Amino acid sequence: MMATQLLDGKIVAEKFLQELRPRLDRPGRPPCVAFLRVGEEASSQFYVARKRAVAESLGIRSLLAHLDRDAAPEIILSQLERWNGDDSIDGILVQAPLPNRQLQELAFAAVDSAKDVDGFHPHNFGLLALDRSDGFVPCTALGILHLLRAYGVELEGRHVAIVGRSTIVGRPLALLLQSRSVNATVSVCHSKSGDLARSLCRSADVVVVAAGSAHLVGPSWIRKGAIVVDVGQTAVTGPDGCRRPVGDVDFAAVAPLCQAITPVPGGVGPMTVAMLMGNVVRAWELARWNGN
Ligand code: NAP
Repeated sequence: MMATQLLDGKIVAEKFLQELRPRLDRPGRPPCVAFLRVGEEASSQFYVARKRAVAESLGIRSLLAHLDRDAAPEIILSQLERWNGDDSIDGILVQAPLPNRQLQELAFAAVDSAKDVDGFHPHNFGLLALDRSDGFVPCTALGILHLLRAYGVELEGRHVAIVGRSTIVGRPLALLLQSRSVNATVSVCHSKSGDLARSLCRSADVVVVAAGSAHLVGPSWIRKGAIVVDVGQTAVTGPDGCRRPVGDVDFAAVAPLCQAITPVPGGVGPMTVAMLMGNVVRAWELARWNGN
């Protein structure tokens, strides 16, 4: 029996970052990315700190504005306006989730689309939907594609089932994988899919789970020889009282069935951060060097 391949996001992300370094070797100021965090969500705090640490390790400058959970929309918008007009800032990232969905959409749309390194501005989302390659693509979707390609996973003509239709993960991933540069056939499931979710996953060559529900997917969802990508990261308190990220897939039960699977942590997470760095460098190159 063939051993299950671990799709190691730490190794692939590190290689991507090493390959990014020569592009940073330019005279003048380095790239700069600004982060906006709203509220006290522990995971947002962790993710922004992680992204800033990786930026720093590459020599990319970063700054952070942290606003109160009850901050008025005008305060959030005026912060983004200031960054939009600041030529020393190349990329802007509004860390999701914001306290409510309307505010999040307002904030995403207020970022200058040329600095939208997370790819959530309607302009960039629209370019992705139109199958154009000149916009910024959301980092988790891009990271999943990059990880699968790094391991030689062929996607053209294959059936990919995605569990989750969020604008952060599932939706942009579906658009990217069905683009003419990837050519997968994509099914998207959500919380109202009922039993269809399990049967679509079971018929898929590749299953990507982004539901935010710890251990939702067990062996009955996965056919033998499938490739499984677990995006989920839910903080769960273990028997030792420590909080740890747990994936949406029951790894121990599912891995023996798979051709390949991502671990949590160390799968999609590092890829998301690496793709963000790629988008920041691209935004800087476009603004300062006309993309040359
Ligand atoms: P989200 O906005 O809560 O969306 C979850 C999606 O899953 C929704 O579309 C929901 O359906 C669907 N869903 C929930 N339960 C389901 C079920 N039982 N069956 C089928 N579909 C179900 O979450 P998100 O922002 O996409 O994030 C998802 C997970 O990925 C979270 O754990 C998050 O922490 C993690 N994440 C990881 C990274 C990374 O870099 N590793 C990046 C982003 C997110 P409805 O639309 O019907 O509600």
